[in-house]
Amino acid sequence: MKFDILTIFPDFFRGPLDYGIVRRAREAGLVEIGIHDLRAFARDRHRTVDDRPFGGGEGMVLKPEPIFECVECLGIAPREARGGVGESVILLSPQGKLFNQETAEEMARLKRVVLICGRYEGVDERVSCFLADRELSVGEYVLSGGELGATVIVDAVTRVIPGALGNAASAHQESFSRSRAAPADGPDSTCGSGGLLDYPHYTRPAEFRGMKVPEVLVSGNHDEIRRWRRGQALEKTMHNRPDLLDRVALSAEDKEFVEQIEDQN
Ligand code: SAH
Repeated sequence: MKFDILTIFPDFFRGPLDYGIVRRAREAGLVEIGIHDLRAFARDRHRTVDDRPFGGGEGMVLKPEPIFECVECLGIAPREARGGVGESVILLSPQGKLFNQETAEEMARLKRVVLICGRYEGVDERVSCFLADRELSVGEYVLSGGELGATVIVDAVTRVIPGALGNAASAHQESFSRSRAAPADGPDSTCGSGGLLDYPHYTRPAEFRGMKVPEVLVSGNHDEIRRWRRGQALEKTMHNRPDLLDRVALSAEDKEFVEQIEDQN
């Protein structure tokens, strides 16, 4: 899969996409990331990419011409044909639909994703109306630019591309993951997140400054461990993100846990 990132700050991406899973996925040829400097598409001597807003008001707005011309240079299909060929042009914007794990999983099936990073007061609306397929927001807050959002999207999408994670099982078990598919081995085998937050993780030492790892995890009883993890995932979700519970199909065992947790509180 190929990502193309359009930005007025190409150097921003030196670093954030060069570590860990994303680096390995790039090296393995699972993803390719092209960074495109919008200033290279500016027409005037000063390489102007922004201008004052029509109608007055604060700040500057990114001009449409460099953005349209840059996307055209990439050889992306026309808007009406993009869905059919697995391409998508996305404008990063706080006014967009919220990007989440489901969006990441959908996007991981695409062949090519173009991410347009805004700056200043935003981007000339014609980019959203006539060039981009959709606007995506990475959260309900305003960032200074789309670059951090693009990095978030590239990272979250890359790690769900088949083969990108060392242990293919782990993606099924993480926070928000809808799949409860059981991997072949290990004590976690039936403990998919199923749309809940992840359960807590511990590693050695078993005791650190008097803080002990929960007894059950060193018991060797895999069924108890599974039940404990599921209970913890439910408890954490009820506490931190009760809204997620409305979207999750709870088993009879889960419902028992929920009742117990509610009784305790
Ligand atoms: N005036 C705009 C904010 C512009 S912030 C408003 O009030 O909605 C400048 C740029 O940062 C935006 O064009 C967008 O590309 C990026 N950006 C800011 N917050 C973002 C968010 N939550 N998600 C994605 N991109 C964001």
